[in-house]
Amino acid sequence: MARVCVIGTGYVGLTTGACFADLGNDVVCLDVNQEKIARLNRGEMPIYEPGLEEVVERNVRAGRLTFTTEYAEAVPGAEFLFIAVNTPQSPNGHADMTYVEQAAATLAQHLVSPAIVVNKSTVPIGSADFVASIIRRATSVPVSVVSNPEFLREGTALHDFMQADRVVLGSSEREAAERVAELYKPLGCPIVLTDERTSEMIKYASNAFLATKISFINEIAQVCDRLGADVREVARGMGLDPRIAPAFLNAGIGWGGSCFPKDVRALEYMASIHGCHPQLLRAVIEINRDQRIHVVRLARETLGNLRGTEIALLGLAFKPNTDDMRDAPSLEIVELLQHEGARVRGFDPAAADNARRLLPGIELCRDAYEAADGADALILVTEWNEFKQIDLGRLRRAMRRPIVIDGRNLWDPEVMAEAGFEYRAIGRPTKVAVP
Ligand code: NAD
Repeated sequence: MARVCVIGTGYVGLTTGACFADLGNDVVCLDVNQEKIARLNRGEMPIYEPGLEEVVERNVRAGRLTFTTEYAEAVPGAEFLFIAVNTPQSPNGHADMTYVEQAAATLAQHLVSPAIVVNKSTVPIGSADFVASIIRRATSVPVSVVSNPEFLREGTALHDFMQADRVVLGSSEREAAERVAELYKPLGCPIVLTDERTSEMIKYASNAFLATKISFINEIAQVCDRLGADVREVARGMGLDPRIAPAFLNAGIGWGGSCFPKDVRALEYMASIHGCHPQLLRAVIEINRDQRIHVVRLARETLGNLRGTEIALLGLAFKPNTDDMRDAPSLEIVELLQHEGARVRGFDPAAADNARRLLPGIELCRDAYEAADGADALILVTEWNEFKQIDLGRLRRAMRRPIVIDGRNLWDPEVMAEAGFEYRAIGRPTKVAVP
């Protein structure tokens, strides 16, 4: 059993803390957000992440998991201090290191015995040295710094942590990295031991590659649209080749969320300022932006003019099974629709609270049918499971005009045409509605 402190209790920090506690360690989760910690101490979850609540509850009950806002309580005695704070995008594209810097400086003030600081936040290449220098300036207590980028996905965070494909650990201090590797040993997954910079780059390169795969298939979808091919079948035919693999080949509105947009931008920024010419990354970003504009263009084409129309959005979170709306495509789509004079209403099974804050100008509905009621067009933005088998007849009857723009290629064009919809998807031939 190790004594672990996790600094930052968001999607990554809370999952990490809960999972390490579940593996039998003594974990304290620390956050400067008083409300978040108060909620956790009342037994409430501050985020929506399937399955996490049970693991948190179980470990709190077992006395292995506690929550605090006090560094003075959490840091002394911890052998491992994980930094899992947010690293949002700065206006110039660089990762904003303010919170990492604050966490490192504050933890250093409370260190009383040697510890290993493990950087889980996604940070620019060179950040392990940066964190070490902040800590060493503030304390003479010996500290080792290990880079340990996180690869979990919101919506499947628990599974991704417990059944990790790999754990990456980067440090110039081999012994420290090996001690962190011991913590992960029960997971039984491959552990990549490398240097700090390589480890930090593995994270950025991985996210950039996945974003590239999505933008690639979206570019192919645009070509399919013009030439009458079906991108879903194209992706299936491609993905059966193990050198290509099927994941991340779903054409649609494109990527969003708290990681891909900021990480691809940060890598592009780092490459540019160090004299490279990251033209592929730039194209990947540009194609993604085009996809969001593309669905609005489809709405305009089918409706003629968006002024005065009522548009319903199904799904607002950046992907299914999360309430996270950071850089969600819905934000930009709503802005574009409103700019053209449409009135927008929306429904999301989990993100209503965040939507109320981030999209104050839209009407939030209790379900998909209420959103569709009297709508001139419906845009499927997030492919939640509950939309897969939606009652199409009821949806059709609720709408003023039966126009559906399927931004995630969730439905079958023939079924939609049979149900009487004028149906547009991404990179798929349009079927004419049966009169
Ligand atoms: P988040 O915004 O959900 O949580 C970050 C938490 O850190 C917040 O609760 C915030 O209050 C807290 N915090 C900020 N400054 C602090 C400080 N000085 N001391 C203590 N707490 C502080 O962020 P997240 O989504 O969990 O992401 C954390 C990091 O992990 C980011 O760098 C992100 O890029 C990376 N990451 C995220 C995901 C993901 O799916 N969300 C996946 C892999 C990696």
